[in-house]
Amino acid sequence: MPSKFLHAFAPPSSDDFITIVRAEGCTLWDDRGKRYLDAMASLWYCQVGHGRAEIIDAVADQMRLLDAYQTFAPFTNQPAEELAAMVAERSPLPDGRVFFCGSGSEAVDSALKIARGVHQLRGEPDRQVVIRRTDAYHGTNFGGTSAQGIAGNREGWGDLVPHFVEVPREDIEALSTTMAANQGQVAAVITEPMQGAGGVFPPPDGYLEGLRRLCDRHGALLIMDEVICGFGRTGSWFGAQHYGVVPDLITFAKGVTSGYQPVGGVICSRDVCDVLERPGWVLRTGYTYSGHPAGMAAGVANLALMEDEKLVQRVPHLAGRLTEGLAALQADGLISSYRGTGAVYAAELGYDTAAVRMRLLDAGVVLRPIGTALAICPPLVISDHEIGTLFDTMAEVLAQD
Ligand code: PLP
Repeated sequence: MPSKFLHAFAPPSSDDFITIVRAEGCTLWDDRGKRYLDAMASLWYCQVGHGRAEIIDAVADQMRLLDAYQTFAPFTNQPAEELAAMVAERSPLPDGRVFFCGSGSEAVDSALKIARGVHQLRGEPDRQVVIRRTDAYHGTNFGGTSAQGIAGNREGWGDLVPHFVEVPREDIEALSTTMAANQGQVAAVITEPMQGAGGVFPPPDGYLEGLRRLCDRHGALLIMDEVICGFGRTGSWFGAQHYGVVPDLITFAKGVTSGYQPVGGVICSRDVCDVLERPGWVLRTGYTYSGHPAGMAAGVANLALMEDEKLVQRVPHLAGRLTEGLAALQADGLISSYRGTGAVYAAELGYDTAAVRMRLLDAGVVLRPIGTALAICPPLVISDHEIGTLFDTMAEVLAQD
């Protein structure tokens, strides 16, 4: 009989779950005392590793001072102001502004609304079309579900949001044709800098530059969904900087707090803000927990910790170790290929990875199965020794197949 807890992305009929009770650095423990290496940074988010006192203390101190208070007009709070400034400063839109919410899904829905709203304000109400890419993952609210390129996640919910059009994920010509066919109607193109949950697919050379050019030519906004790529994962603060393409809107979540508190947000470019700042206009969207002081304090402490420990600068080292390990698995014929960048990769096995994932768990390593690939996305603090354990365990388990 399943428990009362109805799990996300799980079969509701299942009662087979691992109860995690403790975590420190890259190590997790379950309720039977078994240890696991967290090579997925939980769900692509724990940049600084688990159990960091600096963040826990900052959240506790903030809650003792001001546990929670809302930020709808006319209220604000100091950690929200501070985190907005820190995020903007590290982003490719330093003169822009930062909207806060509680998750990546809320960030995506907010960005989609802001993109359409900007065109409405500019007097182009017909610009409602949003172009998405196959294999894209943009969360599970209705907007993000409609923006997803993973068909299975869109199906079974009835009608979604209208005016979403899909293009094959690497086909810039298809995008150009779609833009031309929807002349004057495209509000935005939404893309992850590197696709994550859909399979870890880096963009082909020149692809993001092509998106930018087409958006400029056709008057559409470019939304980069940096929920996974943001906050160091690629080796730059944002994927946009890693790939050298500046979007109009950036969505973020996960790594902004390393998951210590649920926070997401949207960075709006100065051009977007110039439209929104029209005197008298009100941004009629947002959440009870937008700018929640405890979440904001977690973000400030997390970014300070990442800065102190130079975790973004550490990523090229991790990239070297991770690609070395993946190349060795490939040379030994244990994986067919690998792809990724910075500190996020997919090992392609060429067969369904659900079973091998369970055997890896038995062997004490957490990876994420995505179809025929296994995703690897460790905390940015992972040691060389732990990377060694990861690849030794993968080699051992994959050799059994
Ligand atoms: N966008 C991207 C690119 C993501 O990878 C995710 C989650 O993995 C989301 C949006 C949704 O974020 P959340 O699960 O916090 O709602």
